[in-house]
Amino acid sequence: MSINIWHPFTQHGLGEPIPEIARAEGTCLYKSDGTRIIDAISSWWVQTHGHCHPKITAAIQAQSAKLDQMIFAGWTHGPAQELAEGLADFLPDSLEHIFFSDSGSTAVEVALKMALGYWHNRGEVRQKILVMEHSYHGDTIGAMSVGARGVFNQAYAPLLFDVGTISFPEAGAEQQTLDQLEAFSTDCDNAPAALIVEPLVLGAGGMKMYSPAILAQMAAICREHDVLFIADEVMTGWGRTGTVFACEQAGVEPDILCMAKGLTGGVIPLAVTAASDPIYQAHYSEDRAQMFFHSSSFTANPIACAAANANLAIWRDEPVQERIDAIIASHQAFAERLKQKSNVSGLRQCGTILAFEIDDGAGDYMSSLGPQLLRFFRDRNILLRPLGNTIYIMTPYCISREELDSVYGVIEQAIGHFGST
Ligand SMILES: *Cc1c(COP(=O)(O)O)cnc(C)c1O
Repeated sequence: MSINIWHPFTQHGLGEPIPEIARAEGTCLYKSDGTRIIDAISSWWVQTHGHCHPKITAAIQAQSAKLDQMIFAGWTHGPAQELAEGLADFLPDSLEHIFFSDSGSTAVEVALKMALGYWHNRGEVRQKILVMEHSYHGDTIGAMSVGARGVFNQAYAPLLFDVGTISFPEAGAEQQTLDQLEAFSTDCDNAPAALIVEPLVLGAGGMKMYSPAILAQMAAICREHDVLFIADEVMTGWGRTGTVFACEQAGVEPDILCMAKGLTGGVIPLAVTAASDPIYQAHYSEDRAQMFFHSSSFTANPIACAAANANLAIWRDEPVQERIDAIIASHQAFAERLKQKSNVSGLRQCGTILAFEIDDGAGDYMSSLGPQLLRFFRDRNILLRPLGNTIYIMTPYCISREELDSVYGVIEQAIGHFGST
């Protein structure tokens, strides 16, 4: 018997090749024959400082030889304590409590359970969750429930709970979104427990972007009506939008913040759900029935915490912000070039993320252009994974000028090759 690997988000029936990678360094992945591939999507939005950063590698090596894994219910360890102290320099002051889990999806599940637990323990009936159109919050059942419905989760619809959906704040139609939020928030018969949003950039929904001003107004409406504000910074966190967290740009302090991907520099799974004091206090009691009922086997794994501590040290000791600012400026210059192309539309940038659509006349996720683009980039040794006809760049921050130019060059080739005009 031979066992076959079933890959995520992969239609094996299409018979696409599955290239094998042997090693990685900085911005690049290498095949065993030495072929170099520029990782222009940070290995699916996780890598921030580049592959195999020596400080993160060393931290993992040292920690794995000292304390590898232990129970975290009722016990603690140094790397977790150090991470809690370190995160205080990066999070808003109001987020005083952190809860560990293993992935972005579980960080979201934890956030939803905290929000529901908060209202339950206070004896108030608030159960509805509000979400934004086109959102993505992960692939577990709760995370799918608060994400956009579509072909991705059609088969599982009976398992998903109902939510209240506000429209995506398209330019010019922002007031409609705010009015919808206000209407949901003042509905006394079905009072919402929380709003969960991806701040500034909706990643998997198509790299859709909205302004910090709208984010601030949404948070203000929630505050006014006691609706908990949950920021899913799983993708936007750790510098992607130009600041460590996207909420900073709007001056927003969420009640609950989820982070994962870049928390360990994108090297090893670890997630944190940070919560304000009222959320914690609602679970703090001598009554065991009010505790927060959540755990997973590897909660706060010491090796993962050590990697996260190394990530924080890199942010403190290396010119990370300068690297980010250089990417921002470089993308701005490239965007000027793209503006000249007739078959490029929806050009937008938020921090280190640049996105646009190639017009081929069709253009939804299932359109054939996506796979064709994927192949085009793969054949040219650039790892880009368009969302339908939406091309975006999201590189590790260590990317060099030359590597960026290679990525831009291949994208321009693709525009020439696939454009309708
Ligand atoms: C990737 C992502 C998640 C899910 O994270 P996983 O670690 O893949 O479970 C949740 N929310 C957002 C905004 C994401 O981009």
